[in-house]
Amino acid sequence: MKRKILIVGGVAGGASAATRLRRLSEKDQIIMFEKGPHVSFSNCSLPYHLSGVIEEASDLLLMNPRLFAERFNIDARINSEVISIDRKSKTVTVKKLDTEEVYSETYDKLILSPGASPILPKLPGLNKVKFFTVRNVVDIDSLNRFVKKMDGKNVAVVGGGFIGVEVAENLSNAGYKVTLIEAANQILRPYDYDMVQIFHKVLMDHQVDLIVEDSVDKFEDDKVILASGKTIDANAVVMAIGVAPENHLAKESGLDLGETGAIKVNKNYQTSDPDIYAVGDVIEVYNALTHSNTKLSLAGPAQKQARAVADHINNKDTVNKGYIGSSAIKVFEYNGASTGLNESIIEFTNLNINYDIVRIELPDKVGIMPGAETIHFKLLFEIPTGRILGAQAIGKGDVTKRIDIIATAIKFGATVEDLKDLELSYAPPFSTAKDIVNYAGYVGSNLLNEVYKQVNVDKVRELVINKETIIDVREAHEYKRGHIKGAINIPLSELRKRVNEIPKDKPVYIHCRSGQRSYNAVLALQHLGYSNVFNMAGSFLGISLYEYFNDKRTGRESIVTAYNFN
Ligand code: FAD
Repeated sequence: MKRKILIVGGVAGGASAATRLRRLSEKDQIIMFEKGPHVSFSNCSLPYHLSGVIEEASDLLLMNPRLFAERFNIDARINSEVISIDRKSKTVTVKKLDTEEVYSETYDKLILSPGASPILPKLPGLNKVKFFTVRNVVDIDSLNRFVKKMDGKNVAVVGGGFIGVEVAENLSNAGYKVTLIEAANQILRPYDYDMVQIFHKVLMDHQVDLIVEDSVDKFEDDKVILASGKTIDANAVVMAIGVAPENHLAKESGLDLGETGAIKVNKNYQTSDPDIYAVGDVIEVYNALTHSNTKLSLAGPAQKQARAVADHINNKDTVNKGYIGSSAIKVFEYNGASTGLNESIIEFTNLNINYDIVRIELPDKVGIMPGAETIHFKLLFEIPTGRILGAQAIGKGDVTKRIDIIATAIKFGATVEDLKDLELSYAPPFSTAKDIVNYAGYVGSNLLNEVYKQVNVDKVRELVINKETIIDVREAHEYKRGHIKGAINIPLSELRKRVNEIPKDKPVYIHCRSGQRSYNAVLALQHLGYSNVFNMAGSFLGISLYEYFNDKRTGRESIVTAYNFN
């Protein structure tokens, strides 16, 4: 039977649904409405036009209505906004934005994929600056054209989420003087505070003026005035404080919204009206780790949901295992990736989970190979089950491979024991014979089995202030180049003969450069009768990276004599 299927939104979810529908049936009539002038563009690549990585704005377009018609017999209508849905008569009203003509179309099935729009708070004086948001090709093209012609070079980016950071990076690479303003104490929430300090430093190193814990109060002529009173010169302002689901069509037609304000859907992405489906940024999804509904503005989930909807419409079984949230980002020469839970999500959502963390710094490939770089890696696992809850990795090398392994492991319910056993591909240019993912399993399993105790980098300042006993087991020449103030240098190679210098009657904190020598030292001391010994996870490298940005930002006294970043 021929059906008429209408789709609202012609980009990630909408275009994926349309083409999958066509692959499953040659009979159906498929009409896709897009209010903008383009369908199927690469939203995620938009910021890269600002630096010229993607030279022409037109390169961002992946398809056009003619190709949709020729290749897929899909009627893609641009500049066509669906302005209302009449569920009783199963009709939508469409406005042609170029001619103002209004008409209606009936449907058998309707798919909503209208996405999310940038949040634009009503701040005083917004009209006194030239401001932009970044959602589509038109937005990025206008921003790019404006900055190329403006008199000055100052751009303020408001909001340190993925879009804000990517826009800041690309504008900075294009030679603009960028200030990135974030109201919270950190950018990029998928990364915990201890990990994200690496990105804070990277932005600082690249002369992006990163301002945290300060928010925009108002705008004056070409100026952003912050709550602290600080004034930022801005020939252009990019507002990137987040996105809100485009839920008005659903709301006005009486579809149920969920607790987050996004559209509520069932396992098969049907809304409260079984003939209307919804996917992408406009819906809330089930988080399989927090066991709650959440918004998840990511392209992969949108496209997979669209495929599932097309399958369901064509009577194919679909699975919905919930979401864990996996993402990646490039910040200048550093790459980051994260998946699952982090410590701040656990705290913020009041999750009653007992967990511990693995924090390791290891090379991404065999150390003597050209281009070998440290990966800074953090894994969260549940106690006592060892179940993997989440991970974050930052480094110049391939961090996405490692996080993708962890994402897969989480989806399959793996534990830290399973990570030890993973057989991963290896040759020196790609990884180490035991990959950092395997190491995360070893360390996690040791912690789970209480083989030794640890403290993370975020506790070290307190230890220094309290004049606790800190032993640096690196070689003397490494210690001389920079060390924790008050730390005693007993290289691992001298540990056994100098053990009487280490007190037994109080806690002892051990570190080296990256955590491996200190782990060996901790075990040796334990075998020698020490019971109150802690490995400093992250070690000197992690401590230096953790402390640097806030030292420079606040002018506080450093706890190290000199930093070591590699
Ligand atoms: P969209 O792809 O936004 O499509 C919705 C479309 O619907 C819009 O074009 C809109 O004009 C149209 N529309 C809305 N209302 C109507 C209406 N009433 N009538 C007709 N048309 C309508 N995700 C990642 O996973 N990784 C990334 O690196 C990444 N980077 C990003 C960078 C940027 C700058 C942006 C903006 C997003 C990025 N995302 C990224 C998020 C990702 O693009 C979205 O999660 C995904 O596009 C959501 O798909 P969607 O179909 O729900 O919405």
